Amino acid sequence: MTQPPLLAGLELGGTKCNAVLARGDMVIDRASVPTTTPAATLAALTDVVRHWTSSHAIAGLGVASFGPLCLDRSATDYGHIIATPKPGWSNTDVVGHFIGKLGLPTGFDTDVNGAALAEGEWGAARDCDVHAYVTVGTGVGVGIVIDGQPLHGRLHPEAGHMRIRRADRLGFEGSCPFHGDCVEGLVSGPAIAARAGVAAALVADSDPLWDIVAADIGELLANLILVLSPRRIVIGGGVLQRRPQLLAMARRATQATLNAYLPDQSQDDLAALIVPPHLGLDAGALGATILAQRMIGP
Ligand code: ADP
Ligand code: ZN
Repeated sequence: MTQPPLLAGLELGGTKCNAVLARGDMVIDRASVPTTTPAATLAALTDVVRHWTSSHAIAGLGVASFGPLCLDRSATDYGHIIATPKPGWSNTDVVGHFIGKLGLPTGFDTDVNGAALAEGEWGAARDCDVHAYVTVGTGVGVGIVIDGQPLHGRLHPEAGHMRIRRADRLGFEGSCPFHGDCVEGLVSGPAIAARAGVAAALVADSDPLWDIVAADIGELLANLILVLSPRRIVIGGGVLQRRPQLLAMARRATQATLNAYLPDQSQDDLAALIVPPHLGLDAGALGATILAQRMIGP
């Protein structure tokens, strides 16, 4: 059997970017750079890949990025980060930059679609015809894969901005600059910090705020179950990763919201449906290598 090609994968995140050099799911090298200005960040990532190309024959590059993104290959701004609240990053031509600097076939998709692809190929969502990947970190994002294809449609899903029936009806106005108390405005790391008045990392495990956060995450999960009928929802990101107890709490909230309307919604069923990532911090960048693979052929 011929071995899979060497590919480079980049995950552009809100606070940092992860890069991997991989053959299939075997990571050969990794690097991380802080997300600052587009010019500095893309230059640092270019240097990482150039360093790899100096000693390896790399067949392609994939980029899985925070968004919103233009993924329509017939559009003039294909490959760009479009209007984003992240200062300085609106209208950044990510794909054009890397093709211009490195000349590699370059795949492109959202960070969460990338992570969903990788979890589907090698991780917690193998053999699922429909699955989603949810991240709760600096933002809340949802990637969706159907029959092996990341869902795009007109743009791409932005389900982290859905409104839910929030657990505390009054009070905190929400931190999303567009919607206030959308899911991202209620449970992202910055939203938790705004609710608590201290950094999310400093909120005690015993604080009742976590019950509210878990209930709000449970509403998101119940809505995803109702809309997508997924075989699996993989849920990670900095908040869940640092507070693993939230997963069981969110499953209980999901069950309460669904209220036995659907079959197979026992806690055991939901423990098999709603799972943590298997690929950990590599999921996004490994997913980007799948985007690279798909640019160069089957
Ligand atoms: P990004 O979303 O930028 O890719 P992460 O998924 O790692 O990054 O998430 C970072 C978020 O995780 C930050 O907003 C931070 O508030 C939150 N976070 C970090 N440590 C903790 C913690 N101990 N408990 C809860 N949230 C945390
Ligand atoms: Zn929002």
